[in-house]
Amino acid sequence: MEIKHGLEIKFGTEYGPEEEQAMLAVLRKGAPTSGDECIQFEKEFAAYCGTTHARAVSNGTAALFLSLIGAGIKPGDRVLTTPLTWIATAAAAVTLGAEVDFVDIDPKTYGLDPRQLERKLTANTRAVLPVHLYGQCCDMDEILELSRRHGFVVIEDACHAVGATYKGRKSGSMGLTGCFSFHEQKNMSTLGEGGMITTSDAAVFERIALYRSHCTRVYGKSTKYCSLDESKVPMGKRFWWQDFDDCGYNFRMTDMQAAVGRVQLRKLDGLNQKRARNAQYLMDGLKNVPGLKLPVVAPDRTHAFHLFPVEIDPEIYGMTKEDFVYAMLHERGIKVGTHYIPLNYSTAFQKRGFRRGQYPVTEAVAERLVTLPLNPRQTAEALDYLIESVRALCRGK
Ligand SMILES: *Cc1c(COP(=O)(O)O)cnc(C)c1O
Repeated sequence: MEIKHGLEIKFGTEYGPEEEQAMLAVLRKGAPTSGDECIQFEKEFAAYCGTTHARAVSNGTAALFLSLIGAGIKPGDRVLTTPLTWIATAAAAVTLGAEVDFVDIDPKTYGLDPRQLERKLTANTRAVLPVHLYGQCCDMDEILELSRRHGFVVIEDACHAVGATYKGRKSGSMGLTGCFSFHEQKNMSTLGEGGMITTSDAAVFERIALYRSHCTRVYGKSTKYCSLDESKVPMGKRFWWQDFDDCGYNFRMTDMQAAVGRVQLRKLDGLNQKRARNAQYLMDGLKNVPGLKLPVVAPDRTHAFHLFPVEIDPEIYGMTKEDFVYAMLHERGIKVGTHYIPLNYSTAFQKRGFRRGQYPVTEAVAERLVTLPLNPRQTAEALDYLIESVRALCRGK
């Protein structure tokens, strides 16, 4: 069956003439990497999030990896995150050599549960990565309070939640760092790939800036890559030389991406408002469908609605999640998502000793959870058809 417009799995936004113009301007300047557009994008993004610094990177996974490096996480350090996330969150820590363990989720927010976190802390626990899943912030006050008491750092995985707020604070401004992705499916995008790290810690920012680009320090000349240490410039001789503090990486963003990112950032609040409006339309339309659990938005947060999660109770709705996904596609032409498989089910983490049954809340949710199409472009007709389809497949309709 043909997929209906607006009901495909295509969460990302669309580009318009503003992005085209911004790209052409950069192209005519030689389309450099990490130039003025990146610096402007970083300034505007930091201002948007309410942090003092931001650094543009090549993707969200690089943002997570560099944040761990910026926080001084070393091989063998214990890092905790949620098993219900895109693998990048946990993989960034694993590839750095950290010892990763999971904390079960809160079934209301779908985020890492602070009540379960305390029991998982050991003397070696150095970092906790809450994921603002589907676009809603985790219980950050509780997590930050534990971090103060136990001395671990908090790195926010805000890849789903650009623009979301928690008690008036923007996602990415509460932890030591915040990590964002501008992958094509996210709420804003920079030509298919991209990412950003936000922080208000100057020392952590400097480490992130260094490791992003081979730990290059250029002395004696203003540089876009890192801070200038005037003390190392010989008196009276303002010549240029380069040094490397350590072996680092190349996780830079290009100016083409940044120019598009700046336009997307200006559009972001409007796009997120459309998502919220469409989400509310779905909530109203799907109210009282037997066996369908709608997302719960905590009153002290605004949800960025990257995805629209619903849980299907097979006994009451009359269909398993798998049958629902199949019927929606083949009978209704609607692509429904399944985000995500619990990471302890994955081969990658089974190889690392994890087993089914370790995270009962996550696993029970994952058995029932699907994500319905939600994006800023959906028309009322598309939303009505989606609502009608979910109702039509329900046994008790
Ligand atoms: C997309 C995503 C990432 C990784 O971002 P990339 O830009 O794809 O590397 C990390 N965590 C979560 C929760 C994501 O959804």
